[in-house]
Amino acid sequence: MITSTDQTVLVTGGAGFIGSHTTLALLQAGQAVVVLDNLSNSSAQSLERVARIAGRAPVFVQGDVRDRALVQRLLREHRVGAVLHFAGLKAVGESASMPLTYYDNNVAGSLALCQAMAAAGVWRLVFSSSATVYGDPATVPIREDMPTGPTNPYGRTKWMVEHLLGDLAAADPRWQIGVLRYFNPVGAHESGLIGEDPRGTPNNLLPYVAQVAVGRRAALSVFGNDYPTPDGTGVRDYIHVMDLAEGHLKALQALADRSGLHTWNLGTGQGYSVLEIVRAFQQASGRPVPYQVAPRRAGDAAASYADPSKAARELGWQARRGLTEMMEDTWRWQSLNPAGFGGG
Ligand code: NAD
Ligand code: UDP
Repeated sequence: MITSTDQTVLVTGGAGFIGSHTTLALLQAGQAVVVLDNLSNSSAQSLERVARIAGRAPVFVQGDVRDRALVQRLLREHRVGAVLHFAGLKAVGESASMPLTYYDNNVAGSLALCQAMAAAGVWRLVFSSSATVYGDPATVPIREDMPTGPTNPYGRTKWMVEHLLGDLAAADPRWQIGVLRYFNPVGAHESGLIGEDPRGTPNNLLPYVAQVAVGRRAALSVFGNDYPTPDGTGVRDYIHVMDLAEGHLKALQALADRSGLHTWNLGTGQGYSVLEIVRAFQQASGRPVPYQVAPRRAGDAAASYADPSKAARELGWQARRGLTEMMEDTWRWQSLNPAGFGGG
């Protein structure tokens, strides 16, 4: 049990990619869950699949995290003891063309949530932050105390919320806040029933590669092969979404006897290049992944990977699933659901 026996965990954005896998992990740990999601980037199908795997369903409320009255009512009615806050928008390119939408969803949404929590007397919060707050890191691996400096509006929304939460924790010792900086979440639940289902053209590498392998797209564009990395392509710390989900459960447990704000990197500590990912995916899927080299994408770092030792020390958590499992699980989800949840 993550909270005390009669309490519920509120999961905002719980119908989305990471939220649905974490909701599953919570249900499987015996925890009661309420999901709040406006379905702006997801489908309620994901939660039906979660219920199928877990053998029981979370309560689902379709609504917006910016609706403070609604959130306050949910916190009280369901005796919420802790909140996992995934709800937000995450497309870097779109954030540059629609900054108001991003600041409103991500910053104003988090502010409204915290106001509702304070009003309802709920103080335990885990926030989905991102390695993007580190910007272009001067050195790798990246530790939590290294400088931050996001290079795009999406990253700045995460950075601003981190500061907002730091100010709350400094002002009132009842807050128990975990900031989780995710590296690159990939993979899917081993059942192949839930996974990442991006709308439109995927921005991220793995969903794009998977759609090429399944025949939905012709070829991958590799954004730059002249970086100062072993093969010239970008290096990232890919982490299996179920490892990430388990990290959230560990963070909730760790916060039960910790006050203040605590920041933890969730990554594996291991970097892989774009071409290594392409090769690993070809192997896992048995399908070709044709690619062409394209110019660098603006704002991309050469290499970004975590020093995950603080999470290991303080949460007793470390990623257990390796690259092969990440690729095989992504492929199982993609090949069983070539059209995502839209396929039924
Ligand atoms: P996702 O888009 O699949 O999930 C986000 C969910 O939030 C969606 O179901 C969406 O409908 C919902 N949502 C958005 N705005 C909302 C609002 N105002 N009210 C209620 N619901 C709302 O994204 P994800 O990959 O699962 O990411 C979850 C969180 O983790 C996000 O905050 C994201 O910024 C963060 N994150 C993601 C990654 C990544 O690569 N996937 C990396 C670092 C951080
Ligand atoms: N990438 C790529 N082609 C794509 C998408 C991504 O070559 O279609 C590269 C990108 O330049 C980066 C890595 O893959 O080096 C991971 O990119 P992603 O967008 O998945 O994550 P992030 O940039 O947020 O780390």
